[in-house]
Parts: sequence; structure tokens; C-alpha cells
Amino acid sequence: MKTALIWDEKYSEHDIGKQKYVLSKELEMNSGLAFENPYRLNLVHELLEKTQLINKMVAYKPEFAREEDLLKVHTTEMVEKVKEASKNKVNIEVGEAAVSSPGAYEIALLSAGGAKKAIDVVFEEQDVKQSYALIRPPGHHATRTSPMGFCLFNNVAVAVEYAKEKFGMERVLVLDWDVHHGNGTQDIFYHDPSVLFISIHQYKNYPLEGGEIAETGENDGKGFNINIPLIPGCGDQEYIKVIDQIITPAVNAFKPQLIIISAGQDANLYDPLSRMMVTREGFRTMVTKVRELAAVHCADRLVIIQEGGYSLPYFPIATLGVIEGLLDENYPWQADIEKLLPYSGFKPVIDPILAEVKKAFPAIFKELKV
Ligand SMILES: [Zn+2]
Repeated sequence: MKTALIWDEKYSEHDIGKQKYVLSKELEMNSGLAFENPYRLNLVHELLEKTQLINKMVAYKPEFAREEDLLKVHTTEMVEKVKEASKNKVNIEVGEAAVSSPGAYEIALLSAGGAKKAIDVVFEEQDVKQSYALIRPPGHHATRTSPMGFCLFNNVAVAVEYAKEKFGMERVLVLDWDVHHGNGTQDIFYHDPSVLFISIHQYKNYPLEGGEIAETGENDGKGFNINIPLIPGCGDQEYIKVIDQIITPAVNAFKPQLIIISAGQDANLYDPLSRMMVTREGFRTMVTKVRELAAVHCADRLVIIQEGGYSLPYFPIATLGVIEGLLDENYPWQADIEKLLPYSGFKPVIDPILAEVKKAFPAIFKELKV
């Protein structure tokens, strides 16, 4: 089985420069480097080269998505807004915490195109069953009508619609383990029973509203939207428990033909935009478990699409864990920096949260002991 890596140096060209914090009407502060900066993915790519894991993958370049791909999941007004903003020579805010840089529209098309490529290769390329789209800008906060939270267009949603249309997929699972709620993807598929959307997130981190257990989908989509809002401090053990107790039964009930992971590795223990504690090893184990589900239901097909991850020193290492999980590798590390931290005695209690989630989906969990 082969694993594809989709990547293009051009992703660096979307650069919003420095970010400012508005502390009050009178006081603005320059934060220095923007959280969502080009270094993030360049460092991931460099680490894959240095560990030589990249040599065990098959490299593909993305093509630009077409405007009609975007229009399947976004309104014309939204697409036009980003396109027009990106023609300017300065950065322009196009949504809440979403900034367009000069030329950002084309790079956003290349990002969505990378997500499409990740779908193509697992269906069309000989022996390729898994793909990792190392793309930016990210997408999961972009709603049907607006860019949001560093995201211009919803890459995962574009990929889902593409897989449905081109490869006839009737049931697609989107597992969003980015530490922030995948509000945009939820919004786009909230009425759609062909997409089971599952988001594991730190409760009320970002966005400040939503991501509640009670948001289970509407109309035909009722029962196809699972939110798992976790408390701060959750690490490898808690995330694995979520996969075992919630995700595995839900996936076995839904029987997806394709699994797509909205993979933000920003639940890592050094991330500046969250308070979780997942390590490289945790991400490796999570991928291994999802691969088992893909083997049962999807003929091994597993597509991973990059979302967040903001610790420049550790995000590449956490992402290495994801790639290791795909490749059955465990790169020998000189020092496990995670293990140097004295956090082992801290155990967040998530059982009551998981019991609430199970209660919200009686059709899936009624046979199981809550
Ligand atoms: Zn995130």
C-alpha cells in the first residue's frame, strides 16, 4: 500500500505578515509573526525530508481547484469577495479572523486543489490508498457564506463534494480532530445525511459559540453531526478513549465508503492556541486506529487534509506522528521531549462528557452500555 504526499512550495505565497491584537480602542499590539504563517508547513516538509520519511511516500503536486468546485459549498458572493480582496496589494480582512493577502485567492484555489488531489490519488493511482494533503490556508472554519478563523475556503467540504460527484461516494466520514470546532464543515453539511461529521474539540476555544453536543444535524441530516467538546488538559489517553468509545461505534454504524480526516495537529501539548496535551505518539496511535476503520469499511482508503497546528517547534513533530501512523514507522528520537514534562499525574475526567454524547445518539449507542 502506498501513501501520497500532496505539497507545493507555492503555499508559502499566502503570507499575511504580522498580526495585530486589538486590546482596546486605543491600544493595538503587534504580535510579530501571524499564527497561520508559511513556516508551519515548510517546517513539516523539512522534517519529513530530514527523517527521510518523505522517501517512503509518493509525491504529487496539486492543481488549482476550479471556481465551480468552490461554488458547490460556498455562495457566489463569498467567492467573489475573496477574489476581489486578493487583487489588492495590501492585506484585507474578508471574515472574522480571516485575512486575504495579495494573490491569496489563487493560493486558496491551490489549497482546495490539493484537497481534490488527495481524493484523486486514492481512487486513481496504482496502489495508493492513503494521502496527506499538506496544504494551506486551512479550511474547516469557512462556512457556506464566509471565510473565518484563518480559513478562506473549506477545503475538506470541496473534497467531499468532489468525491461524491466524481467517484460516486454516497457515505463520507469527516473526522475533524483539529482542536477548534469545525464549525464551517458542520455548517455546510448540517442537513446532509451522506456526510457524517465528527468534531473533537476543546469546548468554546474557537469559535466561542457552538460545538455543542446538542448540535446533531437538522432535517435529513439529523443524527449525522457529532460534536465531542472536551475540557482542557486532554492528552493521548483521552483522545484514544474518544476514538474507541465514540468514533469507532459511530463509524461502524454509518459504514462510510471514504474517511477524510480534517487534521489540525493543534491539540498538541505545545500549541499556543489550545490547552490540550496530545503528543507525537498520541497522533501516531490515533491514525493507526482510524486506519483500522478504513480497512474495515473503505478498502483502506484514507485521506488526510491539513488544518491547524501553530507551535512552530512541535507542530512538525506532531505531524510526523500522523505520517508515522500512515507508514507504520516510528522514527528513533534522541529525546522524547514530551516525556520530560511532569504531567503524568494529571488526569482530566471526560467520562461524563462521553456519556452525554452517547445519550444524544441513541440509534448508535443504544446497544452499548453508557
Ligand atoms: Zn485549529
